[in-house]
Amino acid sequence: MRALIVIDYTVDFVTGKLPCGEPAVRIEQRIADLTESFVRAGDEVVMAVDLHEAGDPYHPETKLFPPHNIRGTEGRTLYGKLNDVYARHRDRIYWMDKTRYSAFCGTDLELRLRARSITEVHLAGVCTDICVLHTAVDAYNKGFAIAVHADAVASFNPDGHEWALGHFRNSLGAAVLEGDRSI
Ligand code: ZN
Repeated sequence: MRALIVIDYTVDFVTGKLPCGEPAVRIEQRIADLTESFVRAGDEVVMAVDLHEAGDPYHPETKLFPPHNIRGTEGRTLYGKLNDVYARHRDRIYWMDKTRYSAFCGTDLELRLRARSITEVHLAGVCTDICVLHTAVDAYNKGFAIAVHADAVASFNPDGHEWALGHFRNSLGAAVLEGDRSI
């Protein structure tokens, strides 16, 4: 069994308060198509979405980044066509707030995957070298097989993006995919 985890593909992370920018805009169609195809196949689909409280003095990211993905703001909505896919399949897609880079940190993601006998985790979203990377590392340590969709991940940092793709492949044993093809 497999699951698609779509990480942080929100307005704030694409064009908003902490934007990946153009590389993230370019994957809009692919990320929507990929989500649609997992839903249609009956696979588990999770939107893992960063959540912050305004001015939270206890959160480590407060010192590192401008405020982003604040609870109740427009910036936390899914970006573009992914939001349409989510609206159409709300009953089939699990919305999961997360407060750290990894989708496994402080969430019920692992329990949810284990309960459904899911052994293969597919990753898409942003940023390749931050939240996608940390999620992939946790998935590796927990023994999940990993597939990263290279045409559905993006970063503001092209060097970081390329480095992370190599790390997924060479150090985490992940399949790095473009379409259905390993690259
Ligand atoms: Zn954050």
